[in-house]
Order: sequence, then C-alpha cells, then structure tokens
Amino acid sequence: MPELPDVQVYREYLDATSLHQRIASVDVRREDVLETLSARALQQRLAGRSLESTRRHGKHLFVRASGNGWLVLHFGMTGYPDYSKAEDPPQHTRVLLRFDNGFHLAYVSQRVIGRLDWTDDPGGFIEQHHLGIDALDESLDAGRFREAIGRKRGSIKSALMDQGTIAGLGNIYTDEILFQAGVHPRAAASDIDEPTLTEIHRQIRQVLQSAIKARAQPERMPEDFLTPRRGGDDATCPRCGKPLEKEKVSGRTAYFCPTCQAMY
Ligand SMILES: [Zn+2]
Repeated sequence: MPELPDVQVYREYLDATSLHQRIASVDVRREDVLETLSARALQQRLAGRSLESTRRHGKHLFVRASGNGWLVLHFGMTGYPDYSKAEDPPQHTRVLLRFDNGFHLAYVSQRVIGRLDWTDDPGGFIEQHHLGIDALDESLDAGRFREAIGRKRGSIKSALMDQGTIAGLGNIYTDEILFQAGVHPRAAASDIDEPTLTEIHRQIRQVLQSAIKARAQPERMPEDFLTPRRGGDDATCPRCGKPLEKEKVSGRTAYFCPTCQAMY
C-alpha cells in the first residue's frame, strides 16, 4: 500500500514527466474512483489546461491545474501513476489524461480503492479530512511528537498509523520504524518512556528519508532494514538472525523481532 515514501516518489515522477503540457482530453474509465465530482466536471476542469505544480501531505498528492484548483490523488492499496506514450495504458487504468505531445498520464488502481478528488484549497481539504501533521513536517519536533503519541490509547503501532495524528505512515513503515527503534508493535503507546519516544521520532525521519532515497523499492533499502525481509516464511532478523514473527495488530499484519524489540 502506498505510504508517504511511495507517494513522494510518485510526486517526483509527476514533476519530472507531466507538468506544463496542455491536456488534450480526459478519459474517465471508472467514474466510481471520483470522490465528489462527476466525470464531466473533471473533464471541464482539466481539458485544455495543464498541470502546474504538486504538493504532498501524508499519503495524499495534490496537483495544481492551471486556471484554478487542485486534483487530489489518493492511491488506496495498489494505485500508481503511469506516464507513457504506449498505445495501451496499463491494465486497471481508471482515469487517463492525454497530453498534446502524444503522452498520457494514467491513474492506475487495480482494486479501485484509491480515489481522485478536487479541491480549491489543499489546506482546507487536509482539515476537512481530519488529517494530522505530515510525518516529515519540520515542525513535528520531538516534543510535539511525544505529546501527541504519548497520550494515545492502544498500541504504539496503531498510534503511529492513525492518520488524524500523523499523516503518512502505514503498515510497512510503522513496522520498520519500530524495528529500528527496538520497540514491539504491540507496546502500549502510553507506557513508552520519553527517551524511547524521542528515538521513535528520530527513526520516523531516518526511515522515511532512507525509503525515499531507495525510491520506495525494498531491494534498494539499507541492509539492516526489516522491510526487504517481510513476506517470506523463513524471514530472519537483520540484526540478530533469529526468525521474525508476525502478528495481527489493529487489523494489519505486523512483522517484528521478538528478541530485538521490547514490549515495555
Ligand atoms: Zn532480532
């Protein structure tokens, strides 16, 4: 599922491919991916215009169109953008923007869980959708982080995944952050001491920045990362070599090392 690093990579991809070119036509192949507007409304807002700039907040990508307003992209479980000149866009293309230069930008979403939306004001959209501060926002310092997370009920993993507190972290990267910080995903957020919360805060930046640098590709991530090892039946801890365990935590499958990650 696309999390903050994936969406950042998509943002950089759009910046490198799709800006400042006239959109010749807009082909909506599945209208149910459109959250609040009709296919016709989307066509009217984009056809003849161009995409001008991008902005990311958590797992949401905002793309400003010339004229007025922002296209809002959320990629759900499996969504991604694809820019190409190929005659056939990828399977599961839900919306296709065709540019004057013969290329097109496809919004691909196999399970149709992702959504396209429109807003005149990204700040208002973020507020309306009750999204918390972006996980890489400079103003999320250790003190603010400890205050927000330390008083949450439930596990540290679910506290970190709550988009209303901090936006951008999902199942994969909360596992990585907690592994790097040496904290068990089921540890109660309110039981974790101050130095450990500070370490989790430090690891959020560290892990997300490493993942963005690795273009969100597990095989390019540092060797001491857990992420490339998840999924396999005989997965072992990159630190101690013992088998990793998996367990359902808030409805998601968490991977962790029972030896290296403390319960508190
Ligand atoms: Zn270990």
